[in-house]
Amino acid sequence: MTSSLDADLAGRIEAVRHRIAAAGGDPERVTLVAVTKGFGPEVALAAARAGLVDLGENYAQELIAKAPVLESADVGAVRWHAIGRLQRNKVRALAGIVHLWQSVDRADLGAEIARRAPGAAVLVQVNVSDEPQKGGCTPSDAPDLVTRLVDLGLDVRGLMTIGRAGSAADARPGFAVLRGLADRLDLPERSMGMSADLEAAVAEGATLVRVGSALFGPRQPRT
Ligand SMILES: *Cc1c(COP(=O)(O)O)cnc(C)c1O
Repeated sequence: MTSSLDADLAGRIEAVRHRIAAAGGDPERVTLVAVTKGFGPEVALAAARAGLVDLGENYAQELIAKAPVLESADVGAVRWHAIGRLQRNKVRALAGIVHLWQSVDRADLGAEIARRAPGAAVLVQVNVSDEPQKGGCTPSDAPDLVTRLVDLGLDVRGLMTIGRAGSAADARPGFAVLRGLADRLDLPERSMGMSADLEAAVAEGATLVRVGSALFGPRQPRT
């Protein structure tokens, strides 16, 4: 909306791409998923105007509210990534909107996605840091879950994880675990790395990074 938002954003996108490159990633091949959670549709619109086509949302309500705004605006098509904890009863409303379901961590959720969006592209979320407040299946459960989802007809493209809280150095061993699992399962996509730890993720072969605050600034705490 405001031109200063657009100008700030252009600079921040540049800075994030530099960070990816400095960590050894090819900014053309590492997909930057811009996480607009906690911001209104004007921020998602600014992201789209700035040329970001992959947008991530945690909360179904926000995604459902923003998607039509972008669809009716004069910006190019965007691809919505569902990256948050997902309840089965939200899947139906999201089915026509979501491009990549990144946070599938259990078979019953996968079954509902397969029912409402047959053949949808999904990632299996893995909790590599064993922090109980995080979503994700355990690394040892991931192979079976992948098989179940494939059997449901879903297009399992890879794995997703949220790094251990703390420094990037704290997160890196978990990213290495995700990489090893994805290699073993022969899955191409690895969604890992956020504003604070994207270098560690890129160094471990991230193909998608999910970045919010480094692009859009701090979020209001959720009430
Ligand atoms: C919020 C969030 C992000 C982005 O976090 P930042 O620290 O703002 O970059 C990425 N992934 C998930 C799953 C998130 O919930």
